[in-house]
Amino acid sequence: MTPREVAALIAYVVKLDPRLALDDQAAAAERLAQWCDLLSDVPAQAHGWDAARTARDYIARNPYRIQPSDISRPWHTHKADVMSRHVGTFEPTAHPEINPDDETGNAYVAALRAERQAVAAGRLAPVTHRAITAGPAAAEVARRLAALGEYMPPSVKQALAHHRPRRAQREQAAAANLPDALDVACPYEHCLAPAGDPCRNARRAQRSTPHPSRTELATARHYAKESAA
Ligand SMILES: [Zn+2]
Repeated sequence: MTPREVAALIAYVVKLDPRLALDDQAAAAERLAQWCDLLSDVPAQAHGWDAARTARDYIARNPYRIQPSDISRPWHTHKADVMSRHVGTFEPTAHPEINPDDETGNAYVAALRAERQAVAAGRLAPVTHRAITAGPAAAEVARRLAALGEYMPPSVKQALAHHRPRRAQREQAAAANLPDALDVACPYEHCLAPAGDPCRNARRAQRSTPHPSRTELATARHYAKESAA
């Protein structure tokens, strides 16, 4: 977390547990520095991870004052769990930068390591399904990837993935043949975002996550289509 994210997190936990409020400026600055140090390797948000939510759950369930370790420990557990689920379905053909004649394998190892690091840091969803390469499911995957548009070589796309998290998430969902909320229009009456467009909040600003009813609708349609196939 950046110092700004840590400061926002502290403001949030103080709101939830007013015992954590500090009157003394110096003590508050010292706490901020300590939390920044202890949470520097913990992301504010990642796939399946939200530091603020972890803090909220801790405060809801514990009578004790929250410590940075009450956030960093669950993060490391989450990371270990994600890594244990990540099967290396690494596709060398998705990495044109790797020279197949390079017998040292260095580039391959570097790319594999980069992928594992991205999963560990939560920038990339773990690959828990074997790549789908044949049958009607593969045709569906190809159709969805084509609908998302293909105009960048995969290596460039991967480098840009964490700058374009929404597109990256959609591509990962399509590649793994998982439901993608943006495939359907949002049914939530105050949003009604058309298919392909992100959900918007009450101020019409883009939401980083779809409305839950949209995810449910997409999931229902996705599995209805799968069982019909
Ligand atoms: Zn919506």
